[in-house]
Amino acid sequence: IKCRDSQEHYSFYSQEIHQRMSRKLNLENRLRVALEKDQFVLFYQPKVDSKTGELTGVEALLRWEDPERGLVAPGEFIPLLEETGLIVEVGNWVIGRAVADYRDWRARGIGIPMVAVNVSPRQLRDKHFVDLIGHAVDEVGEGHLELEITESVLMEDTEGSIKTLGILRELGAKVAIDDFGTGYSSLSYLSRMPVTALKIDQSFVFSMTKGPNDLAIVTSIISLAHSMNLMVIAEGVETEEQARLLRLLRCDQMQGYLYGRPNRSVPLPSR
Ligand code: C2E
Ligand code: MG
Ligand code: MG
Ligand code: MG
Repeated sequence: IKCRDSQEHYSFYSQEIHQRMSRKLNLENRLRVALEKDQFVLFYQPKVDSKTGELTGVEALLRWEDPERGLVAPGEFIPLLEETGLIVEVGNWVIGRAVADYRDWRARGIGIPMVAVNVSPRQLRDKHFVDLIGHAVDEVGEGHLELEITESVLMEDTEGSIKTLGILRELGAKVAIDDFGTGYSSLSYLSRMPVTALKIDQSFVFSMTKGPNDLAIVTSIISLAHSMNLMVIAEGVETEEQARLLRLLRCDQMQGYLYGRPNRSVPLPSR
């Protein structure tokens, strides 16, 4: 909106822009400090088998322990980490931490089949990423590390993604498409993506019990996954009603508050 009536309006708007920019710069600096001072922490959320309820893995979810504000959720700082490229360094930290934690659980006799980490677009395109994952898989063993990548990221650069994911799979990493159903997948590309699992976005799980259209989407994603020999997991499962329906639809695994919130300590396998 342009206001040409007075000089004051211009200075008002530019002041607002200036404020927004300095707030951003301030956050960026604090995020650099956070990395230096080890203020990031990983929380782990269980994933369970729909039929048996057994723990199938855990997902690492990043938190920032800000000395000023306490625990900060990733939605508040990941966009800026992405924008500044700092996500590559923080992402490396996440993978290193998750691998170290996984080895620690194993040493303590806690057998968890898989640990999953979220991967951002910048990381996937980083030239050192493949080596990093190669070393990580060496540490945890083939088939025990899963990378969660959102659908939109894979569809942005399909040929590049197919190539990189192929290498990562060959190294022994598993790959899940996160937030599936929100990213306008081209089905022909999807069939060529060397992935192992689809994660149904929580928005569909939420509205699935509220009307026929989202139920149809969930049903279709599950049958699509199975016809492509992929594992399918529902995220954001909060109620028994959702769980019952998902089991009926043959969804393989579940994740959500009903089974456990993201937590500082790892959930013990229920066997
Ligand atoms: P995501 O990977 O799709 O993770 C699922 C989000 O849903 C998490 O939010 C989780 O805490 C939340 N959630 C889990 N169960 C339920 C439930 O039953 N109900 C509801 N309402 N929410 C549930 P969180 O931890 O705030 O993470 C948000 C997003 O931030 C993640 O979405 C992921 O895209 C990103 N993220 C988190 N950690 C990392 C990381 O280490 N690296 C990168 N690049 N992104 C990360
Ligand atoms: Mg995820
Ligand atoms: Mg998700
Ligand atoms: Mg999400």
